[in-house]
Amino acid sequence: MQVLATILFVLSGIGFILGLRMLGRAETARKGNLVSAAGMGSAVLGTLLVILDERRGMAIEGAANASSEALLYVAGGLLVGVLVGIPAARLVKMTSMPEMVAIFNGFGGAASLLVGWGTFQRASTSHRAARSAIDAVEGSPVSVEVSSSLTSWLGALGGGEGHFIAATIFLAILIGGVTFTGSLIAFGKLSGFIPTRPVLYKGQNFVNGLLLLIIVGAGVLLVMNPEESWVLPACIGLSFVLGVAAVIPIGGGDMPVVISLLNSYSGLAACAAGFATNNLLLIIVGALVGASGIILTRIMCLAMNRSLTNVLFSGFGSVTTQAAGEKGEQKEARSMGPGEAYYVLEAASSVLIVPGYGMAVAQAQHAVKELADRLEANGCEVKFAVHPVAGRMPGHMNVLLAEANVPYEQLAEIDDVNPSMETVDVALVIGANDVVNPDAKNEPSSPLYGMPIVEVDRARNVFILKRSLRSGFAGVENPLFFLENATMIFGDAKATIEALVGEFKSD
Ligand code: NDP
Repeated sequence: MQVLATILFVLSGIGFILGLRMLGRAETARKGNLVSAAGMGSAVLGTLLVILDERRGMAIEGAANASSEALLYVAGGLLVGVLVGIPAARLVKMTSMPEMVAIFNGFGGAASLLVGWGTFQRASTSHRAARSAIDAVEGSPVSVEVSSSLTSWLGALGGGEGHFIAATIFLAILIGGVTFTGSLIAFGKLSGFIPTRPVLYKGQNFVNGLLLLIIVGAGVLLVMNPEESWVLPACIGLSFVLGVAAVIPIGGGDMPVVISLLNSYSGLAACAAGFATNNLLLIIVGALVGASGIILTRIMCLAMNRSLTNVLFSGFGSVTTQAAGEKGEQKEARSMGPGEAYYVLEAASSVLIVPGYGMAVAQAQHAVKELADRLEANGCEVKFAVHPVAGRMPGHMNVLLAEANVPYEQLAEIDDVNPSMETVDVALVIGANDVVNPDAKNEPSSPLYGMPIVEVDRARNVFILKRSLRSGFAGVENPLFFLENATMIFGDAKATIEALVGEFKSD
């Protein structure tokens, strides 16, 4: 059975690696998800086999009860996971995906914390039992005293040197605890349960740094002297506080980056838990999640032209929003209705569609696909320019457009479309704002300065579909709205696109 379990664990590792690779491309992402899920299934099955194998061994010694209990826990966990996971994944709205990822990350962190804590408790129980056995025997030899220390039990049960296992348990608890409460705050901010604005106070970074130092100090104490009974609960409590303290200064709009970072933390916590329990698969999977999470975080920061330090410590979004709103009132933007816009689109021979967060809010992707089809049927060349940070999560637009069956060949990246922007008859900006803001190239004082954008301002005509002149995520005014070649088409993006489709139909 052990051999079969090992094979399942190897298959599981392969499944995760292949799945992750396939998730990197839109065409294979769906399959990648299934392959990863199969990998997870294989891991659970392997774990069940290991428990059954232990149970068989124990039955021979007449002590199968503890193992039956473990089997029950795994089966119970599996059942609860399936009952919660399937409806959650089916019912979640696409715009609420970041919240769901946040809460799942939090559970991942909590699971690693529990594994670390459980490993410690197991060693503690064995240690206490050994101590009382030794105390019961008068004149026990010194060598027995030494081998009965908690550190040596940690080493024996964790399959490594005692202090090392204690350190990995500490890391699983610290990172797992921070991930858990940090993710809960991220979930709360994104779903509006708690205010989304950054919560800032004087000396915040100093307080957070001090908190981290205290926890690390407690960790050193735990590693050197795990018998101090107050240290472990203190580490757990402090890590929870640090998770909250680290995430409250970050604005709700920056949460996707934070979630990606917390995702990476949850992987690192799992990795530490893997070392603590001598579980190779957990180490591999944790490392994969940790590395991919940090890579994604970096990609998101680069695409927003912000450093991770700026995202984590600057309280972005707390000041700029109002300032931008006030400035925007003074200028006038040209606007027209879908009826007029139709005539321009009908005559266009090339249209570039630039989707943004508003398309997701309006759930306009199916209507957009229909409009694209109508335009193509009318002899027009249609392309979609997908900005890497359009929307509120990586790949947000790709997912929505794939859901509406927009062919991959129609999707283009910024570098593909910008060089030939002057030849585009109409750039149709659908609920996008920051990702087309010309200040990102022209205005060094703008918070967006340096972020690559889809340069629709150079197209022959720009139609901007949104409900008002309000700013987007970055909270800054967009001079695009006031350019001579730009026209606003105010209203909900879906309603506007449907009206345009209606015009094509009635033609
Ligand atoms: P923005 O947030 O800049 O703008 C979205 C616009 O959509 C708003 O200005 C809003 O204007 C409009 N809108 C909202 N609802 C509707 C609706 N129903 N119909 C029509 N329009 C609507 O979005 P972008 O996609 O351009 O940019 C994404 C921003 O998010 C960037 O600043 C990026 O850095 C940031 N970000 C992205 C992440 C990612 O991973 N993708 C992660 C973290 C941040 P109005 O209210 O007037 O309708």
